[in-house]
Parts: sequence; structure tokens; C-alpha cells
Amino acid sequence: MSSNKEKYIKRKVFKNTNSRISDKFVDAGLEEIRSCINCGTCSGSCPSGRRTAYRTRSVIRRALMGDESVLSDVSLWFCSTCYTCYERCPRNIPVTDMIIKLRNIAVEEAHIMDSHAGLSEMFYACGHGVPAHGDNNKQWRDLRESYGLPALPPTVHSFPKAVEDLQTLMKSTGFRKLMDNVKEIKAKRKAESQKEEEKK
Ligand code: SF4
Ligand code: SF4
Repeated sequence: MSSNKEKYIKRKVFKNTNSRISDKFVDAGLEEIRSCINCGTCSGSCPSGRRTAYRTRSVIRRALMGDESVLSDVSLWFCSTCYTCYERCPRNIPVTDMIIKLRNIAVEEAHIMDSHAGLSEMFYACGHGVPAHGDNNKQWRDLRESYGLPALPPTVHSFPKAVEDLQTLMKSTGFRKLMDNVKEIKAKRKAESQKEEEKK
């Protein structure tokens, strides 16, 4: 690491930032965020930012300043992980890795979109985000056959026993515990917001 970069990382303004985000970034070895000079090259290079309100620089800045609202901001999910910002950052900050880390923290705190949670659960249940087996998915089997393919792909659909291995593997990463926790927090939030509505 260059001494200039070390100097930026040690900048006092960020040294005392006390938040779950900065602690977890340091734990994950991503403390290089502190060398960000807020230049905006990441935003200017971002293909997702051209089509949406997503601004990479702003996400990084908010994480850097310990602004935890970045975790519940839906735009955090607009990054396509193309790695352009990662390649172009003049400070060599692993920007994409940081966005992925922010997403991981967001999921831990149940700020995952219902559609993403549903997709993850589907993958856990049958190894596919878009399954082709079962009574409701005949159209996918028909479509495959219309292209001369076997009705089911040579994945866990053709080897159902492998689903058990997949689930064992996913459980070993803490997936089941994580998603059960997400469900619990979301249900609590929903109940609280219903109570608030009733008070109005
Ligand atoms: Fe910070 Fe790098 Fe983005 Fe510039 S390109 S704002 S230094 S993260
Ligand atoms: Fe934008 Fe994400 Fe690509 Fe970076 S990795 S340029 S934030 S889409």
C-alpha cells in the first residue's frame, strides 16, 4: 500500500466513525473505503446509473460516513456488479466488493426485497430460481421440448437427491438461519407499521 493511501485511510474524520457498517467493513478487510476522494469516477462509469437514480459515489460516501439509511435504500440493489467502477477507481478501492458487502449487511438486517428473498427460498427448495418441474411449470418443459431439449435440464431437476446436498451446503453457510431471521424481522416491522396505521 502506498504511503499516500495509508495517510488517507488514517484520516481522522473517518477514524472515529462508529457504525455497524464501518465495523463490518473493517472486519471484511474493506477499510480501504477510507481512501475515497469522492471524485465520482465510479458514478460516471456506472452503466446502471445511466438508467436509474443509483449513484455509486453516493452509496460509497454514505457507507463511509456511517449513514445506515444506505442499507434500506432500494437503489443498493441496482448495481449489476459489472466491476467497471472497481477497475476505474483512482484510489484502487474495490468498489464492487464494497457494494456486495453492503448488500450482505442489508440482508442481515432484513432489508432484502421480497422478490429477492422469494428467489433465494426457491433456490433453496429446488436448486433453481425459475424451476421447470412441478404442475405449475409445464410451460417451461414444453418450451424446452419445442427446442429439442429434454423436458428437464441436467441439473438438480434430473438428480433430485442433489437437492438435499444443496440444502446441507446452504445450511452450512448459515443461509437457513439468516432467512428465518429475515422473515421474523420483516413480520415484526409489518406488525409495527400496521399498528402505526391504526393509530392514525
Ligand atoms: Fe471514491 Fe473511487 Fe468512487 Fe472516486 S471512484 S468516488 S475514489 S470510490
Ligand atoms: Fe455500477 Fe455496480 Fe458496475 Fe460499479 S459494479 S459500475 S456500481 S453497476
